[in-house]
Order: sequence, then C-alpha cells, then structure tokens
Amino acid sequence: MERNERTSDGSGEDTQATVLRLRLIDGIARRLRPWGEHAWDERVLEAMRRVPRHEFMTGSTLDVAYRDEACPIGHGQTISQPTIVALMTNALRLSGRERVLEIGTGCGYQTAVLASLAAEIYSLELLEPLATRARLRLAEMGVKNVYLRVGDGYGGWPEHAPFDRIVVTAAPPELPAELAAQLAENGVLVMPVGEGEQSLMRFVKKDQVLVREELGAVRFVPMVRSR
Ligand code: SAH
Repeated sequence: MERNERTSDGSGEDTQATVLRLRLIDGIARRLRPWGEHAWDERVLEAMRRVPRHEFMTGSTLDVAYRDEACPIGHGQTISQPTIVALMTNALRLSGRERVLEIGTGCGYQTAVLASLAAEIYSLELLEPLATRARLRLAEMGVKNVYLRVGDGYGGWPEHAPFDRIVVTAAPPELPAELAAQLAENGVLVMPVGEGEQSLMRFVKKDQVLVREELGAVRFVPMVRSR
C-alpha cells in the first residue's frame, strides 16, 4: 500500500488514479529540466507519485485531477499546476531533516508532498475554510508532521522560526521582510515575486545575506494582506 493512499474501496478508482498519476509525473520528469538545477531530485518525483492529488480536489474527475493544470479549489483560489509543485519542491533541495514554513496551504496538496520530504511542515493559510478542509484531508491521510494555522503569511510564524526552508505559493509584490528574517543560515526560500509579471525566485541565506536567483516566469494568485 502506498503510504499516502487511503484504503481502497474496491472500486478500482485507486488503481486508475495511480496509473494516471504515474503517467503525469513521469511526463513531467521526461519533459522538463528543473530550474536552476542539473537534475530532478528523485525523492521529489517519488513523493509526487505517491500523494493522491485527486483527494485534495473535491468534485473533480480523476481525469481532471491528473492533468498538468492548475484548478479552482473555491474561494477564488487554485491548486497549483503539478509541474510548478514539482519545480518548486525540487528547488527547495530537501534532505528530509528540514523544518519548513509553507505560506498558502490552499487545499493542502503541496503540504502533503513536502511532509513526505522534510521533518516538519508549518503551514499558514489566510482563508479559514481552506485551512479547515486541508487539515481534515491531511489527518485522513495520516500525515502527522504538519502544523497548520489560519493566519497572514506576511508575518511568518515567529514562534517556530528560524526555518531551514520557506516556500510561498502566492505572489507578494516583493520579498516580505519577516520571511527573510525567519530564514535560517544556509536556508533556502522559494517564492513567486511581482505584481502582474511574476518571477519565481530562490534565495539562499549566506552569512546573513540573501543571495538571489531568478528561476523563471510564473503566474500565482496574489499574496493578500489581511489588514
Ligand atoms: N499550494 C496551494 C496553493 C493555493 S493558491 C495548493 O496547491 O493548493 C495560494 C493560497 O495562498 C490560497 O489558498 C490563498 O488563500 C493563500 N494566501 C494568499 N495570501 C495569503 C497570505 N497573506 N497568507 C497566507 N495565505 C495566503
């Protein structure tokens, strides 16, 4: 049994989902070279082969859930495109020991991927109904190393800082100062930045200075201020 799958109900849906999921992830790995890297981290691809994306998308057919597309999840928000989840997660360079801050839990899909690749995930979501649904899904899947809170990601999560990795899945106009401050030395922060035109950025903290690298053009929902 795959680690993140619910028990099969015997309908054959799980088998079909697995086939579609493997096809999707293999296609991404074959077609694309990761941004700023020479190779895919095989652990990232393995995690994405395991996590059942369709179980985070209520009311979608398996066919839709395993297309390489972003998709509405309610409240004007979207689940990220699988390619983007793969590229961002790969860019984080996770070894399994990290404490990760995620901003923008959304439906919790990327949270589940991160949870199988790092030690602890602290995830913040601004919209309460999305956070509640994500919390339920992750609990149903038996994911235990995720701490989820409703809150504004601009402030980070100071009680648990510093973080080895920070990943943001909504776009602020510029790098939020609090997030930069909550990144540990040698830590990696991956996030889209910009209004209208957005770039995915990777920042690495070296001697308290952030070294920045532009990974590519992206399109995310804006990172909203709560006040
Ligand atoms: N990774 C998620 C992406 C969801 S879209 C997924 O694949 O499902 C981006 C999410 O960021 C939305 O759920 C939105 O509500 C949330 N968001 C926007 N601004 C935020 C902020 N300031 N703090 C926390 N979450 C925010």
